[in-house]
Amino acid sequence: MNPDVFGVYVHIPFCVHKCNYCDFLSFLGAGDAHREYTKAVLQEIEELDEDRRQVDSLFFGGGTPSAIDSSLIVSMVEALKNKFSFSKDAEITIECNPGTLTGEKASDYIRCGINRISFGLQSTDNKVLKMLGRIHTYEDFTQSLDIARRAGFTNISADIMSALPGQSVNDYVNTLNTVAELGLQHISAYSLIVEEDTHLYEHLKDYPPLPDEDAERNMYHVTEDILAGAGFYRYEISNYAKPGFESRHNKSYWELTDYIGLGLGASGFYKGKRYSNTSDIKTYIDGTAKGELSFIREVEESSVKDRIEEYMFLGLRKMEGVSYSEFLKIFGQDIHSIYADVISKGIKQGLLEEYNNPAEGGVYLKLTSYGIDVSNTVMSDFIID
Ligand code: SF4
Repeated sequence: MNPDVFGVYVHIPFCVHKCNYCDFLSFLGAGDAHREYTKAVLQEIEELDEDRRQVDSLFFGGGTPSAIDSSLIVSMVEALKNKFSFSKDAEITIECNPGTLTGEKASDYIRCGINRISFGLQSTDNKVLKMLGRIHTYEDFTQSLDIARRAGFTNISADIMSALPGQSVNDYVNTLNTVAELGLQHISAYSLIVEEDTHLYEHLKDYPPLPDEDAERNMYHVTEDILAGAGFYRYEISNYAKPGFESRHNKSYWELTDYIGLGLGASGFYKGKRYSNTSDIKTYIDGTAKGELSFIREVEESSVKDRIEEYMFLGLRKMEGVSYSEFLKIFGQDIHSIYADVISKGIKQGLLEEYNNPAEGGVYLKLTSYGIDVSNTVMSDFIID
């Protein structure tokens, strides 16, 4: 954790169409709504306190940030650059959905300093994309990828999904093999979770059956093997990067580095306090217009116990695990004074392992590959009674 920098997340809640599995805070909206929303975000930026530290990562997530006019994205980047100083190599990412990126948008992004694109691809199979309610085909994705590269992007990520209705291990392997060879720098591979209040949840019986547990586990294992063959290494349970292209935004979140969340429903962890913005669009627009962050934000009390648990849950998701010396530095307590029993039990059961990492400052605790398979159970042991 670097105390001299912080991150910023901006939520853009608009999408062209609601995907069948999606429970993110996103909805349809057109030009006027986009402009009104951007005005509110600019107002929120205006109200932020000065910070002498540098921003080293900025992330536009959603929703579909590439669905709105690029001039609106540029205005938010510029407002943030006027407000804060950015480190020279700051990572500035925009999430894009294939089919919504044009050459003009990509050039505008590059001009204002955006240097990383994260595409929501999900699958290379057009039938699967249609079933998921995605707005694009695989060919739309390859076109968007060309557009991004022609504009000058050299740090590109794609999200893919496994455990989809009707998906066999072979289907998933086809997606993986194709995506692995596209020359991308980063791939996030998530398993589908059927969330309540989605079309998929409510009409599950109308979809092909979900893969069984064995197939799901095979998909999970094959991901690391195939991506390793193409030069990606796994640095977190669901994230793979070519060396040097790990997502700084993700890492700072897992390491509890300060970040400011802006926009509808965004949350932040800033100067020791966790907060969430309202998820109600009217309250957000009206509240920001009043020029006081207290109209849109709810500050949550987070105890040291909460922070320690969160640090362990997030830290153990990273393949390098949790550094004992970093833990001591952040919390002023030896990790064994809290977790001695949990750690020795986990090691005995083959779920956890300690290793020496002299280059990174001593002993680390991480999940074994068996521990990764049952990570939810292992993590639950780190809840402090
Ligand atoms: S594009 Fe992403 S945020 Fe938008 S509806 Fe689909 S899954 Fe949800």
